[in-house]
Amino acid sequence: MALPTVAIVGQPNVGKSTLFNRIINERLAIVEDRPGVTRDRNYAKASWLGHEFNIIDTGGITWEGGRIEDEIRAQADIAMEEADVIVMITSVALHLTDLDERIARILYRSSKPVLLAVNKADNPEQRADIYDFYSLGLGDPIPISSTHGTGIGDLLDAIVENFPPEADTKDEDEIAFSVIGRPNVGKSSIINAMLGQKRVIVANEEGTTRDAVDTPFVAEDGTKFRMIDTAGIRRRGKVYEKTEKYSVLRAQAAIQRSDVVCLVLDASTGIREQDKHVAGFAHDAGRGMLIVVNKWDLPKKDSNSAKDFTRVIREEFQYLDYAPIVFVSAKTGKNLEQLPDLIKEVAENQSQRIQSSVLNDMLIEASKLVPSPLIKGKRLRVYYMTQVAVQPPTFVVFVNDPELMHFSYKRFLINQLRDNFDFTGTPIKILPRKRK
Ligand code: GDP
Ligand code: GDP
Repeated sequence: MALPTVAIVGQPNVGKSTLFNRIINERLAIVEDRPGVTRDRNYAKASWLGHEFNIIDTGGITWEGGRIEDEIRAQADIAMEEADVIVMITSVALHLTDLDERIARILYRSSKPVLLAVNKADNPEQRADIYDFYSLGLGDPIPISSTHGTGIGDLLDAIVENFPPEADTKDEDEIAFSVIGRPNVGKSSIINAMLGQKRVIVANEEGTTRDAVDTPFVAEDGTKFRMIDTAGIRRRGKVYEKTEKYSVLRAQAAIQRSDVVCLVLDASTGIREQDKHVAGFAHDAGRGMLIVVNKWDLPKKDSNSAKDFTRVIREEFQYLDYAPIVFVSAKTGKNLEQLPDLIKEVAENQSQRIQSSVLNDMLIEASKLVPSPLIKGKRLRVYYMTQVAVQPPTFVVFVNDPELMHFSYKRFLINQLRDNFDFTGTPIKILPRKRK
């Protein structure tokens, strides 16, 4: 589950985002468009020769510091914290610059492998003009052209060669979860309170390649958990730490490595646009999900407050209709004790497998309830259904013509599945296929 992470670093205009887009190319096409979710294009999954990895364009993470020196410092720090392999980009068109040298000096101290790419080497003369870059002390410069696509394969080969040997350190029966949300909603307070309550056994993991340290702990009932360190709690106080882009990026990195995601909202501020971005990523990743409304000690309440807040959440996050909602206070500790059980329940639902015979009984009952739709004179015929994957539960439905399976009928089938089985907390995927 834990994929290696690659970060792209470099001064402005060397071609970081062009390279990023080229590497993730075909991934973009399958991204589902949903109103209300703007996509940050600085974090994505990519693959090369069967190796999957996450890639970060640190250049997308600008913040209101202003000074270019601060900006490259933040970029390099983020890369060194988040990545397994760092790619520094320079430009043959700009030649070697003072900023290149400063970035290289910072990266030079990193324990992570750093590769040096010289971009905009669009023709053979430019590809030969890369010798100045040796002086950065980062090894052989790799000439590339992000717009033409030349040299990208060599760069990707080098990236993959430098991946850590064993990126996945997760124990099979461990439930990995993360606590995500925009800055100040109370993520660290919740995590600290939870860990305090559980009197955890914090293992010191020797040999892990990441310096983001996760916290494994065992609940009283013996369930093993692994808390993914999202909030960067152990290294507070960096300038960029509270910026939106950075917190979104951390959330994305954590979501990738989690079985279950706890999305934290702040009862005292209500729902903001940024909450929706973060929620959208978790939903798209197909992870189990729990909505945690924190700071429930703050609002003035009457007997309907929780109901009213729930209604607002359901309206604002319609696609998260499967996520249970829990009202907590990290300050008073109220309801926090429910979290481990809920996380466990969601994780189990995510991995649930339903037998085909049971599914098909359900289909027969469902077809009695609602006739399948007639579209332009053609009726959808649903023959057979089978579960093909877990995490998230994914069902292939064999039909006469997949084109006839519209959103509303998919929704109907998903609701049937939810009514018949406990899929609380997990998205469900339906894949229509033509029966041969
Ligand atoms: P960033 O600021 O480092 O993310 O740089 P961008 O990716 O935004 O690229 C800056 C400019 O350089 C854009 O106009 C790109 O089209 C251009 N560019 C990027 N890669 C190449 C390349 O390989 N060759 C040439 N000639 N131009 C490039
Ligand atoms: P993070 O940025 O999401 O990790 O948020 P923090 O855990 O740093 O909390 C941000 C602020 O909210 C801090 O001042 C906390 O003391 C406060 N806070 C967190 N949880 C609660 C809560 O349940 N109730 C109240 N009243 N304040 C809280």
